[in-house]
Amino acid sequence: MLNLPSPVTSFEWQNRRFYIKRDELIHPHFSGNKARKFMQLLAEPASRYQGLVGFGSAQANSLYSLAALCHLKGWRLDYYVDHIASYLKQQPSGNCAAALELGANIIDCGAARRASGLTMQEYLQQTILLDEGQLLIPEGGRCSLAKPGVVQLAKEINSWRNDEGFEQLIVMLPSGTGTTAVYLAQHFALHCPGVQVWTCACVGGSDYLKQQFTELVSNPQQHPRVLPLAKPHHFGKLYPEQYRLWQTLLAETGIEFDLLYDPLGWQCLLATLKQQSVSTPILYLHQGGLAGNPSMQARYQRKLARDKH
Ligand SMILES: *Cc1c(COP(=O)(O)O)cnc(C)c1O
Repeated sequence: MLNLPSPVTSFEWQNRRFYIKRDELIHPHFSGNKARKFMQLLAEPASRYQGLVGFGSAQANSLYSLAALCHLKGWRLDYYVDHIASYLKQQPSGNCAAALELGANIIDCGAARRASGLTMQEYLQQTILLDEGQLLIPEGGRCSLAKPGVVQLAKEINSWRNDEGFEQLIVMLPSGTGTTAVYLAQHFALHCPGVQVWTCACVGGSDYLKQQFTELVSNPQQHPRVLPLAKPHHFGKLYPEQYRLWQTLLAETGIEFDLLYDPLGWQCLLATLKQQSVSTPILYLHQGGLAGNPSMQARYQRKLARDKH
């Protein structure tokens, strides 16, 4: 049912061969970063839970992945949002539309949550009485539940490295919460010392990301290397030079990357390779997220048309 281990392809670019771990190809609906993090739940017997309760943005990749997971398991998904844009209510698109098609219940509890003065997680824990058999998933899958799926990914990468005969390897992936990068780095530090993990902060800045690592893995020896950002980055904002990089990658490789994380990931990686000579093979992790691309592309096209005038 799942295309695992996910394939690795490669391309020559800028006088170097880049290897790409294609996690976007795991499954038509359940793929990429969130599939890895929620993999543990897929392995559970369906009778273990009645349903999952999630929360976050109405356009989040995790909404779509949780909906796909629940669809596969025959579970109910209640997904709570703080806000749902009126255009999205009228005409669902992207992750939101895909999740609705898979039967997700998207519930706007913003007003009640704000009145309670609690965080969303506290609010759900305290006021939405979880039925026996309902599991609450932290936002973006930022929890130890994610670890077994990420360890499986680390093992796939290491076994590919062995097959290729590479002593050393650099694994690059852009981070949101940093959960994936830090669990990969921990596994490699303990079991495959030839593999380094590089990442960059797409959400909240490098110091915040390092703090997030520490909350999940206390030993800094087991943390990824955080590549510096050329300038502050605001998640979800449009950066025309990043859109051009995304288009170049698509043209050069035929691979569609995601538009929220990958352009910054490639930008940081290329900047580092300019400053530092690196002969170690590089494996870039494609973490899916493509359902969100059409709306980002439409936003870029509107912006570029506006900027022309
Ligand atoms: C969630 C996500 C990330 C970030 O993963 P973290 O483990 O939160 O760092 C990166 N890329 C894509 C496409 C994602 O969906």
